[in-house]
Amino acid sequence: MGLIYRFMVSGMDDLIIHLSEITAEIKTYRFIMQKEWWIPSGKDDPVLSFLSPVNAIFKLYRAGERLVLEGKVKGTLEILCDRCLSSYSFDIDSDFRIFLSTELLFDEPEIELHSDDMDTDFVKDNQLNAEDVIREQIYLSIPYKCLCSEECKGLCPSCGKNLNTGDCNCTIESGHPGFMILKGLRNSLPSRG
Ligand SMILES: [Zn+2]
Ligand SMILES: [Zn+2]
Repeated sequence: MGLIYRFMVSGMDDLIIHLSEITAEIKTYRFIMQKEWWIPSGKDDPVLSFLSPVNAIFKLYRAGERLVLEGKVKGTLEILCDRCLSSYSFDIDSDFRIFLSTELLFDEPEIELHSDDMDTDFVKDNQLNAEDVIREQIYLSIPYKCLCSEECKGLCPSCGKNLNTGDCNCTIESGHPGFMILKGLRNSLPSRG
């Protein structure tokens, strides 16, 4: 069982695993993804950059009809707080297991998968793109709602100031939604002359 080290800055070729080589014997791959590799997918991407290289380990083996990929991704990300839109540091250290259908290895898209846990996205022409797997696992490792802290106060809805850094002048005026309704109601009452 060989341990294969790959140090990545860029370039896709080294991240392709030829699945025909995979047997019942576990093959281990190690990838070190440098900061330069990460390119956020658009402005809504919560993962801005890496604060450390991201280490990924893949163990691949064949188990009967399917291939099993057991892996780990570990590193420190710079992610965006959903509430205050500031970036913060977030450690990931997660294990995953993906089953790859060997039927797909023959590139017959008309064959229907019979199991939900088969992952089809990463295999093409009998090759597994480790880059795609690592990218997806990074997204799966971050919370559904990213918060810089549980107590994050977010942004002021009217002036946009980050309220974690102090109050703004409009906090009292904008107030509680209930108060706003009351205020509106009072304004609509007929005035008694
Ligand atoms: Zn925040
Ligand atoms: Zn404000």
